[in-house]
Amino acid sequence: MTVQHVIIIGSGPAGYTAAIYLGRAGLRPTLVTGALAPGGQLVNTTEVENFPGFPEGILGPDLMEAMRAQAERFGTEFIHEDVVSVELVDGNGDGAGAAGTVKRVTLDSGDVLEAHAVIVATGSQYRKLGVPGEEEYAGRGVSYCATCDGFFFKGKPIVVVGGGDSAFEEALYLTRFGSSVTLIHRRDAFRASAIMVERARANEKLTLLTNTVVTGIRGGEAAPSGVAAAQPTVKPLSLNLGGLSLGGGLNLPAAPARAGSVTSVDIRNTVTGDTGTLDTAAVFVAIGHTPATAFLGDIVAKDDDGYVLVEGAGTRTSAPGVFAAGDCVDRTYRQAISAAGMGCRAALDAQHYLESL
Ligand SMILES: Cc1cc2nc3c(=O)[nH]c(=O)nc-3n(C[C@H](O)[C@H](O)[C@H](O)COP(=O)(O)OP(=O)(O)OC[C@H]3O[C@@H](n4cnc5c(N)ncnc54)[C@H](O)[C@@H]3O)c2cc1C
Repeated sequence: MTVQHVIIIGSGPAGYTAAIYLGRAGLRPTLVTGALAPGGQLVNTTEVENFPGFPEGILGPDLMEAMRAQAERFGTEFIHEDVVSVELVDGNGDGAGAAGTVKRVTLDSGDVLEAHAVIVATGSQYRKLGVPGEEEYAGRGVSYCATCDGFFFKGKPIVVVGGGDSAFEEALYLTRFGSSVTLIHRRDAFRASAIMVERARANEKLTLLTNTVVTGIRGGEAAPSGVAAAQPTVKPLSLNLGGLSLGGGLNLPAAPARAGSVTSVDIRNTVTGDTGTLDTAAVFVAIGHTPATAFLGDIVAKDDDGYVLVEGAGTRTSAPGVFAAGDCVDRTYRQAISAAGMGCRAALDAQHYLESL
């Protein structure tokens, strides 16, 4: 079998950018796109307004198609499958070569590829609430990224679900846009750091609603089955707030809903069992992400949540010749442009590695 220079796993902004750089360097990379979601997360969104170079914005699928075409122009070959495992093998295949100098990549069809370097750019999947209405209103009020979508909810009431640092960061950020932000958390204590909770408590626009779960998401015309029609106003609840003040947060004005967009959430107190409805134009789900790195097994070091660990600001993993970029590494920024930037770094790191062999 021919041992290739480099195989890239994943076809989001990180993977395509790595492919563009490696292709222009004459290394003819092979890019395994993933079987289900070629183009990555942006294929599931509509308008992208913060990727530089598009003053009027660009549709997510169009942006990813342009990246794919650019990678193809410089000689990238695409394989539309999933990678199921990566092994570090002996370079000679006879037990005499250096262990790990060749990376053996197995696809879900059973086909096997080999390369001297591998770039892992498999992204992450956001965790979902799993409640009625979540799928129906995804992109129409249900969002998993405040940085991406907060701007669309200027002057409207917003709900954030979650209790960790990310949820608090998102909630605080969203107070710049929303008329009010209600952070809903299922327990009475938060996983978030004390300083974040203090900041949230000090913010007049932000209400913390504890011991509460969202049980359904309702919308305008396209009300999901099994969920009753939207209520115009908030039903008062007798909730155990753990000493937190609701302030005026629950007396939100009804959102001027677009047809088929989110208008309210159903909520239930986990202690008393009381139920109610809270008007909102948006639900930001911030209950965590799962990096798509299980297929790597233990060939590279990962953190407890499965994010691949890299050296400093570079993209080198614990396995020489294996590099990682984008949302499968980055639990902080999670943006298309930051993933693309890291894809560039991975390509340059891989080039240097190949030159050193
Ligand atoms: C709804 C939504 C809207 C967003 N809007 C914006 C926005 O407006 N602006 C912005 O900057 N960011 C936005 N983001 C965030 C942005 O999409 C991500 O930060 C970015 O896509 C991450 O790029 P990535 O290359 O790391 O991974 P991804 O885009 O997640 O791509 C990962 C790729 O890896 C593939 N893959 C996974 N496992 C395997 C495997 N085993 N074998 C082969 N392939 C595999 C997947 O199929 C996918 O193609 C949004 C995200 C979402 C979900």
